[in-house]
Amino acid sequence: MDAALVAAADVAAGAAVAKPRVLLVAPRDSYRSAPYIAAARKLDVDVLIASEGNHSLSGLDAPGVKIDLNDVPASLRVLLAAAHERPFAGVIGTDDTSVELAVAAGIQLNLPHNPLSAVRLARRKDLARAHLSSASVMVPRHWRIDCTQPLAHQIEKILYPCVVKPVALSASRGVIRADNAEQLLRAIARVRAMLASEPQGDERDTLLIEEFIPGAEVAIEGLLTGGQLEVLAIFDKPEPLDGPFFEESYYITPSRHPPAVQTQIAARVAEACAAYGLREGPIHAECRINEQGVWILEVAARTIGGLCGRLLRFGTGYGLEELVLLHTLGRRPDTRTEDGGAGVLMIPIQQAGILRRVEGILAAQRLPYIEEVVIDVREGNELVPLPEGASYLGFIFARAPSPAEAEAALRAAHACLRVVVAPLWKGGVLHLAANE
Ligand code: ADP
Repeated sequence: MDAALVAAADVAAGAAVAKPRVLLVAPRDSYRSAPYIAAARKLDVDVLIASEGNHSLSGLDAPGVKIDLNDVPASLRVLLAAAHERPFAGVIGTDDTSVELAVAAGIQLNLPHNPLSAVRLARRKDLARAHLSSASVMVPRHWRIDCTQPLAHQIEKILYPCVVKPVALSASRGVIRADNAEQLLRAIARVRAMLASEPQGDERDTLLIEEFIPGAEVAIEGLLTGGQLEVLAIFDKPEPLDGPFFEESYYITPSRHPPAVQTQIAARVAEACAAYGLREGPIHAECRINEQGVWILEVAARTIGGLCGRLLRFGTGYGLEELVLLHTLGRRPDTRTEDGGAGVLMIPIQQAGILRRVEGILAAQRLPYIEEVVIDVREGNELVPLPEGASYLGFIFARAPSPAEAEAALRAAHACLRVVVAPLWKGGVLHLAANE
């Protein structure tokens, strides 16, 4: 369209041209795109989704441009051209894999952004650990393994139990506990096989091994403004997470940890953000708590994963994504959370195979305090459990007068579900369960 036509179209669009527009940079199949689009619609803000693949764009009810997260210079050119057509008032990276490109766009477009070095650190687990321990933030003892070199010497000094993890995956993929050298070598081989299809390079060949930290785990949702952290919510994870795999399941808020512990959690996460140099926008952190104190497991420069953001309601009814959009636009709404308890169960995939059906959804949905049961995997699709799997079977959401009642409702709802799985034949071999 030439300039005159664009101007005419703008006039015809009337008030619409005055709407702020936000750029969302999202990987293929991001769980977070749809909640951001819904939030933008509620706030009367326009969004442009920059994402990979035609399908992930066409499945969303918002305008989009195609980018390649593995080709930052070319993707930046696409984003700058889009900004030239109509400027953006803010930019958000929805997921770990897209925050770097979002920051690079923020730098070029002179929009509020985190330093590139900070988001890079937060995304790479090995660099993050090294950086935080040199800044004296409490993180597990850790060792880096170069898988292209012989392992025997590299694992000599490792303390058990330990946890093996890839340096740049998320959602607990490839995170495996090992209690001795034999288990460690088996775990390394399993994670290596998982990474074989990743692009060649450092992230494929490096593994992080960490001391296993026992204790209760919490997740923290926060918002940074000019380097100041505001904790929006602390989620308790009431199910023990002792391995060998670390499936997310129950997240319950508000936290039932004593106020003094919650203060320590907030202080530790703020310390980690400062050490990374994170200054603006949402953060999601995971911590372990034991008699030694609060340990940082992870701080990511994005919102909580899955569809879990919908549990949170702030001030006069804003959701998490609305709050982040408003923050991006320089507005600072009330962030007090609603009274009462809320929780989500990320329904784990417990058995490998082909999903036939999930029974009992209606019964689960009818239980008191259950808001919704969402099954994400369609019938006929393959179910892949952790550590290789990358998705959940679905989510159950509850809202109740107290966190304990929200948790009890989720447990009761989960007990109603029966997941019917058919065995899977691959290359003439019957796969009954991948979780041996
Ligand atoms: P991801 O980014 O893939 O979620 P994390 O490093 O956060 O990977 O690890 C996923 C889960 O594994 C954590 O939530 C925790 O339950 C467990 N875990 C990871 N590292 C440790 C550790 N050092 N000690 C104990 N548990 C751990």
